[in-house]
Amino acid sequence: MHATSALAEADRLMTVCNSCRYCEGLCAVFPAMEMRTAFADADLHYLANLCHGCGACFHDCQFAPPHEFDVNVPKVLAELRAQSYQAHAWPAALSGLFERNGLVVALAAALSVAGFAAGFVAWSDPAALFAATSGPGAFYRLMPHNAMALLFGAAFLYAIVATAMSVRRFWRSLGPLESAADFPALRQAAKDAGRLRYLDGGGVGCFNDDDRPDDRRRHYHHLTFYGFLLCFAATCVATVYHYGLGRIAPYPWYDLPVVLGTLGGIGLVAGPIGLYLAKARRDPALDDSPRFGMDIAFLAMLFLTGLTGLLLLALRATPAMGTLLALHLGLVFALFLTLPYGKFVHGIYRFAALLRYALERRAGF
Ligand code: SF4
Ligand code: SF4
Repeated sequence: MHATSALAEADRLMTVCNSCRYCEGLCAVFPAMEMRTAFADADLHYLANLCHGCGACFHDCQFAPPHEFDVNVPKVLAELRAQSYQAHAWPAALSGLFERNGLVVALAAALSVAGFAAGFVAWSDPAALFAATSGPGAFYRLMPHNAMALLFGAAFLYAIVATAMSVRRFWRSLGPLESAADFPALRQAAKDAGRLRYLDGGGVGCFNDDDRPDDRRRHYHHLTFYGFLLCFAATCVATVYHYGLGRIAPYPWYDLPVVLGTLGGIGLVAGPIGLYLAKARRDPALDDSPRFGMDIAFLAMLFLTGLTGLLLLALRATPAMGTLLALHLGLVFALFLTLPYGKFVHGIYRFAALLRYALERRAGF
């Protein structure tokens, strides 16, 4: 007996696939499935998070609709993935945020931007919000650095703790393994996640609505992911500059935090646009439409964060700086707050599933 109808459907599909095994070379889902003869809820959540949604197994399947077996593995596993985030959310009382994530993100963004704009006006002379200011400390005339560091540090720490607790629950639900997480397994999982190995549809790429698979989705995902990491690196370097070297932002365009932030910002603008277009071209049969709002909300937040960051960089010496700073900080703050209850967690869950898979393979499970 399974907890949801999606779990029951996934069990049915995995039982069919385990007899067929035609797709075993496509990705990690099928070899992991073959290591099992029965599928508990936790096993199905694990398989769902191993799936990268490339669509290859649907297009290759002789039992796909209109066949009476009605096998659509990517669609059912996508639904289950979202359910797994909700089932393991921390704290559990906030798990409902996943269901209305699009609305939650929009509200958090609007309130945060308004809050920062109002805070700037209350803190400084309202005229300073619309005046051109430049030179070291220009940003901190609108909001003191320590207040900024405290607010964003707290929001980011909360996001890390909530996501870590949630993934810990997911990991524990999978039961014990004979071997502990070792370095070769960690390296294998990091390699598979970093290359998005299983988004390649068994070598041909992701499937679209025109039956012509390509690698665009993987490339745009890389742009987004590495753009996010570069922006994070820029913030870390700027923190070291500020506290370690006593160098106060804004920095010149050739300085490391600006170079990293610019490259990261370009990735965060181009990647989400490409992913959105790839989503629009996706075969509708693979779509898990109830999760559309969550996917789009995350892409929109990354895009707007990257865009406002780049605009702030380009226009920081003009009267638009105050407004752009309020917009950018508000969006980043809302992004941090909503990270544990939206699409962001898919990367962490997927890494955990890939690590589990690497460990199972090494243990000859
Ligand atoms: S998806 Fe279809 S073809 Fe692939 S293993 Fe399952 S039943 Fe077989
Ligand atoms: S990763 Fe691709 S081939 Fe593997 S289960 Fe998911 S959609 Fe199917």
